[in-house]
Amino acid sequence: MPDLMWFRNDLRTIDNPALSAAATGGVIGIFVCTPGTWRRHDWGPPRVTLLLESLRVLRSELEQLNIPLLIRIADTDMESVDIVTDVAAANGCATVHANREFGVDEARRDELAGSWLSERNIGFALHHDQVVFEPDDILTKGGTSFKVFTPFRNTWNGMLIDRGLPEHAPLTPCESVSPTSDPIPGSVPGFTPWPGITLWPAGQNAAMERLQRFLDGPVDRYHNTRNSPDIEGTSSLSPWLATGTLSPVTCLRPLVERFGPDPALWPAGPATWQSELVWRDFYRYVMHHNPKVSMRRPMQEWTVDLPWRQDDDGFEAWCNGRTGIEIVDAGMRQMLETGWMHNRVRMITAMFLTKNLLIDWRRGERFFARHLVDYDFASNNGGWQWSASTGTDAAPYFRIFNPNRQAELFDPDGAYRRRWNPDHHPLKTLPIVDLGSSRRRAIEIFKVARTAGC
Ligand SMILES: Cc1cc2nc3c(=O)[nH]c(=O)nc-3n(C[C@H](O)[C@H](O)[C@H](O)COP(=O)(O)OP(=O)(O)OC[C@H]3O[C@@H](n4cnc5c(N)ncnc54)[C@H](O)[C@@H]3O)c2cc1C
Repeated sequence: MPDLMWFRNDLRTIDNPALSAAATGGVIGIFVCTPGTWRRHDWGPPRVTLLLESLRVLRSELEQLNIPLLIRIADTDMESVDIVTDVAAANGCATVHANREFGVDEARRDELAGSWLSERNIGFALHHDQVVFEPDDILTKGGTSFKVFTPFRNTWNGMLIDRGLPEHAPLTPCESVSPTSDPIPGSVPGFTPWPGITLWPAGQNAAMERLQRFLDGPVDRYHNTRNSPDIEGTSSLSPWLATGTLSPVTCLRPLVERFGPDPALWPAGPATWQSELVWRDFYRYVMHHNPKVSMRRPMQEWTVDLPWRQDDDGFEAWCNGRTGIEIVDAGMRQMLETGWMHNRVRMITAMFLTKNLLIDWRRGERFFARHLVDYDFASNNGGWQWSASTGTDAAPYFRIFNPNRQAELFDPDGAYRRRWNPDHHPLKTLPIVDLGSSRRRAIEIFKVARTAGC
């Protein structure tokens, strides 16, 4: 009897616990495209194109392991349950294996899958790979969830020392099974193929090469270079991490082998990079323990009724990189062209939208979702709620970046701004908003809400 491996956000064979558990006899792989859910979740062509390309590479990697990859198209995640149940039953599968996801819709889908599969006497085994340590295992001494990053990271680091990283032996070819792989669709309804994909070679081998290059040098300087958008100081691994083509465990293992299990004893570069990967875990953790963030609600209740401005012209200018604030425009243009934006500039552009323009963070969150190739709900939501001061452990509302000052600090020679604003000249394009008075306006409005909502 074969097992069925249901791929979702884990498009790889390396460090894939569900696949390792399935691969003891014959295995059939399945992926269900759900364009209706992707649309509802605000995915855009960059993210979907990367997903389809990643499936193409995965299919050939799986074939070398004798695992066919079936592709089905449903509309929504809920409909995918029906398909997976039928495929498992039709192929006489004993168990369906999958890696657990933490979003609200994904959790509901898996609950339904568990009950439908059990009605057909098929097992459903959920494994865990989306973060390094499971969110339910990381709790305060009082048994509640952490709201603040630093104690979360301290506990996370303690677990790394105590437990180490999970081990997954490399896979060997499985027993042959009868179905053959399906072709991967060139596109799915509602998502045109995205030409920028040539910048982001799909698949785990491309990710491993990039990881190796980063660990061979840049990581040692990361603490000094990570805030400079004008140089390649960060790993740019986010698209692979977001599609699950690369596991955070695979990223961290070489560092643990090199420096030992206690990140507090690592050199500054690798320790700072590890901390960023823990931020990634933290935002998934926040999503798991606070379902409201998946329902477009802020973490801080006092910010629920903030009087955001409609300002469609301002929003349009921000979206198109035409605000007249060079660093903001450069960031937006970088994203529109490449599907990626440097982290420092994501913070600057998000804070400009939510504070200087006082536009609802959810509009910006959605725009990023549609244009980022590394779009990841938890990290995007976390980044937006941090910038808008609506999140847990967010930027305090009165500490508003001055984007021009940020540009002087982090792009001192203007190389990044020139690279992405070739047609721009500061004197030619007037800013759409006065930075000083809009800053004061935001502080006043947040202060009133904070006082009323305490
Ligand atoms: C407004 C806003 C929106 C964001 N949207 C996304 C998103 O949709 N998808 C996404 O992956 N990241 C998002 N981030 C986080 C961060 O900007 C990117 O992960 C990072 O820029 C990716 O570049 P890198 O791979 O070179 O990161 P590196 O600096 O090399 O870090 C390594 C990895 O750690 C993780 N990471 C790094 N910084 C963060 C962070 N602040 N929060 C969570 N994880 C982090 C990422 O997986 C990243 O690939 C957002 C941040 C902000 C402020």
